[in-house]
Amino acid sequence: MVHQRIWRLGLTGGIGSGKSTVAGFWAQRGATVIDADAISRQLTGPSGRALEAIAQTFGPHMIGPDGAMDRQAMRTRVFQDPFAKRQLEGIIHPLVSLITAEQTHAAIEQGQHCLVFDVPLLVESGERWRRQVDRVVVVDCDQDTQRQRVMKRSGLSEPEVDRIIAQQAQRLERLACADIVIVNQGLDFDELSTQVAQLAADFGL
Ligand code: ADP
Repeated sequence: MVHQRIWRLGLTGGIGSGKSTVAGFWAQRGATVIDADAISRQLTGPSGRALEAIAQTFGPHMIGPDGAMDRQAMRTRVFQDPFAKRQLEGIIHPLVSLITAEQTHAAIEQGQHCLVFDVPLLVESGERWRRQVDRVVVVDCDQDTQRQRVMKRSGLSEPEVDRIIAQQAQRLERLACADIVIVNQGLDFDELSTQVAQLAADFGL
């Protein structure tokens, strides 16, 4: 039997680009999708693996009555203190890497050869995610399309959406990091799905 190459793809895109939709299409083609944000939320959710270190570093009051990190208290803390932000990242990032590695290992054990890491802030993370993936796949559309989609989905106002977009990497910066671009504009879900299927074929799916 020919040994199949294992691919690790980093999937990213600005808010409203359609990254989650595209991740779903990769899963439909048979890839294992590993959701970095979901891992991060679980780490700080009830009984999460980061809670002990968070309580030790920031104090037990950072854990709410539901047994999860008090997100509002932590937001206030890191907003006031940039060092606290780095301390929190110092707890969360290695655990995300550990759990990602565990999930990757489990998928490979089951015969998977194509892993898609869904990472909204891949470009913003600098080298951290880029060194863990073989290819960076960017889902791209223009800012007006992003804005319209997010407003429709969330009910946020235009300035609120623009603020989020401005906090993320800008379109050209993201495209500069891309090995592969999935264009998600001026096409319907079927056409988008076909685009993913064609690409997935290049990665053995
Ligand atoms: P992201 O994960 O990048 O924020 P989503 O995949 O959640 O984006 O897509 C944002 C919204 O836009 C969703 O409501 C989704 O259904 C819609 N959407 C994505 N791609 C298209 C498309 N090609 N045509 C129409 N709506 C789309």
